[in-house]
Amino acid sequence: MRDFAAEIEQRKRDGLYRHRRLVSGPQQPELTADGKPLLSFCSNDYLGLANDAGNIEALKNALPETGLGGAASHLVCGHHEAHHQLEERLAAFTRRSSALFFSTGYMANMGVISALVGRGDTVFSDKLNHASIVDGCILSRARMRRYAHGDVAALEEMLAKTDGHKVVVTDGVFSMDGDVAPLRELARVCREQDALLVVDDAHGLGVLGPQGRGSVLEAGLSEEDVPVLIGTLGKAVGTSGAFVAGPEWLTEYLVQKARTYIYTTAMPPAVAVATCASLDRIEADDARREHLNQLIARFRAGAENLGYELMPSQTPIQPIMIGDNHAALSLSQALEEQGMLVTAIRPPTVPVGQARLRVTLSAAHTTDNVDHLLAALSKARQLLNESPEGLAQ
Ligand code: PMP
Repeated sequence: MRDFAAEIEQRKRDGLYRHRRLVSGPQQPELTADGKPLLSFCSNDYLGLANDAGNIEALKNALPETGLGGAASHLVCGHHEAHHQLEERLAAFTRRSSALFFSTGYMANMGVISALVGRGDTVFSDKLNHASIVDGCILSRARMRRYAHGDVAALEEMLAKTDGHKVVVTDGVFSMDGDVAPLRELARVCREQDALLVVDDAHGLGVLGPQGRGSVLEAGLSEEDVPVLIGTLGKAVGTSGAFVAGPEWLTEYLVQKARTYIYTTAMPPAVAVATCASLDRIEADDARREHLNQLIARFRAGAENLGYELMPSQTPIQPIMIGDNHAALSLSQALEEQGMLVTAIRPPTVPVGQARLRVTLSAAHTTDNVDHLLAALSKARQLLNESPEGLAQ
């Protein structure tokens, strides 16, 4: 038998050990983690809707109508009218013909990719795509070709040399770098090379595009350009679950074929009701996105001024690039000592040598919150520059 305990100890020595913090109370910037009050800059609740009073009220009101549990898979007897209404709402929100509600984004990616490609086909995936996309590609048993991040010319060359059924899959907004995929060029190449384009807009939905309708509509692309759109509901939407939106044939086909849709219990229907309420808010409230964009600009200017290396990201995902795993952990620790929660992200989540602090901003943050983070970053830099184990490692 393998020595699993020794592997865990090795992870600790390599600065790769993953620690789960215990959060109490609701998810919001000021939270309690491991018993300590901290100001969090690491959630994906980009619009501050995870703890929105209106959404909580919608959930409470729905419960007597729908009951609690999903009780069965959608194809047995779990498909509730609340799920159906959410699917219609999601199709309208994303300006698409139809939508299918999944229990998580991870399952959506696994189910969609493995349904759309199989043995003998080829799936092309951006090197920085999310783990759930990579796992979906592996599960599908199709040939997987990874292209350099955002490199449409490299992809085009690969596509031109490949025969048979081809699917291209990309994050809309990359989860660890915060940049947006070159969607218009990807759509053009896919059209020319007869490949099906799949976009996972987990981090763009609610944040980008007109009324938060996502990165695909921000790029001015239609369902014809990007037939398969995946979105998650646990991030900017502030609830839970995910969906796939596109032509009728797509959702109908997935109901027949996507194993992660077919063989799992339906989400509690009340969550679907609360998600509809949250979508109403997202559509109606440009002020949240405007405030968020101001915070992003303020953080970027301040952090660059302090000499930190950022990525060219205009989204709420603002990684501070460090490189070394231990140095990233030291910076995270130095911030925590000043009451800030920003987790260090290390390989294999990011490439080796690219450890970083993934700062995420939310409309629930105040300008003062961002200024406090910048002050803490300034002090941390001083402390770590003086320490032999600091950032210079
Ligand atoms: N896609 C991307 C790009 C993600 O970042 C994530 C979550 N981190 C997922 C999919 C998975 O979504 P969920 O959390 O709903 O499983």
